[in-house]
Amino acid sequence: MADAPAPRDVLPPEALLSPPSGLVDGFGRAIRYLRISVTDRCDLRCRYCMAKQMTFLPRAALLSLDELAIITERFIARGVRKVRMSGGEPLVRRDVIDLARRLGRHVGANGPQGGLDELTMTTNATRLADHAGALFDAGMRRINVSLDSLDAGTFRFITRHGDLDQVLGGIAAARDAGLAVKINMVALKGLNDDAIADMLRWCIAEGHDLTLIETMPLGAIDEDRADRFVPLTAVFDDLSALFPLVRDDSSTGGPARYWRVEGTRTRLGLISPLTNNFCDGCNRVRLTTEGKLHACLGHEEAVDLKAALRQGGVAGLDAAIDSAVATKPRAHDFRIGAGEAPAVSRHMSVTGG
Ligand code: SAM
Ligand code: SF4
Repeated sequence: MADAPAPRDVLPPEALLSPPSGLVDGFGRAIRYLRISVTDRCDLRCRYCMAKQMTFLPRAALLSLDELAIITERFIARGVRKVRMSGGEPLVRRDVIDLARRLGRHVGANGPQGGLDELTMTTNATRLADHAGALFDAGMRRINVSLDSLDAGTFRFITRHGDLDQVLGGIAAARDAGLAVKINMVALKGLNDDAIADMLRWCIAEGHDLTLIETMPLGAIDEDRADRFVPLTAVFDDLSALFPLVRDDSSTGGPARYWRVEGTRTRLGLISPLTNNFCDGCNRVRLTTEGKLHACLGHEEAVDLKAALRQGGVAGLDAAIDSAVATKPRAHDFRIGAGEAPAVSRHMSVTGG
């Protein structure tokens, strides 16, 4: 089969400049936030995220850097103000810094073609020491780092082979480069649930924010997620007894709720889709590395933007984006119960967490 023409050959430059119209779903939610999974591959195998033996997409199925940029820029033109690069591990994709540079040009722009308030990334930080400076230079100012334990043995167990010192080195390099760091920690029964207060103390001492996350039923893994599930409602009660937490409503439109730890620079966030659903304010959609647009993390439905772009140019892309946004579900249907199959068959690493 002949290769599809590269999008730059299909699209005259002026097509990229056609007048945009904003994105609002069937429940009146404006779409302002795009997450892109730049690769489904990863150098770690966190137990709650991936199975030990994973099958990854063939490289030929992936969007090229140019296609990723064109699709993302179209979302920016249509009102998206925040883009997060994720994965998989975004820093294992060879051209990821080129993509960051290209998207970073939109940060702070405010013309008829839109602009970004923020370009950011979620990373496991194993390669952050090598790339933190380049990400800052590309326009990033904040970054999320996954860190589920400060104990080297527990960290290695959860990630199956990760090196805690390497990750801490990456975090230190990010801070030295001028990037603010938010730590993501998935609460896991019997693995780190007795160390959440210590993680918050460490974040306060280091000047990082901390977001706690409930494990979500995405993709098959080698254990039953119900065995590791920790409801964040209970965790929050424990933390409130230990830290002066003051509700912070300054961030809206995300699934997290935030508190300031009074007297510190640290904010605590909770992402608790199982015990406290915030879908009503959802403002995001997700693009996979093979070009599927998921309007909801918690449903299987997706629209193929790669095919739309290759066959129909920007007009085709717009129509496909519109149809995905119009059918964005009201809410996810996550449930966690013993023996229950994952609500969604794809892993978080495919959709971009
Ligand atoms: N590899 C990068 C990292 O770990 O930061 C980015 C991708 S990872 C899929 C993004 C976030 O999703 C991480 O904070 C990770 O802990 C979280 N995550 C992965 N699988 C999850 C699951 N099943 N439930 C909840 N969070 C999950
Ligand atoms: Fe890799 Fe991130 Fe998933 Fe861990 S959570 S396996 S680092 S993609």
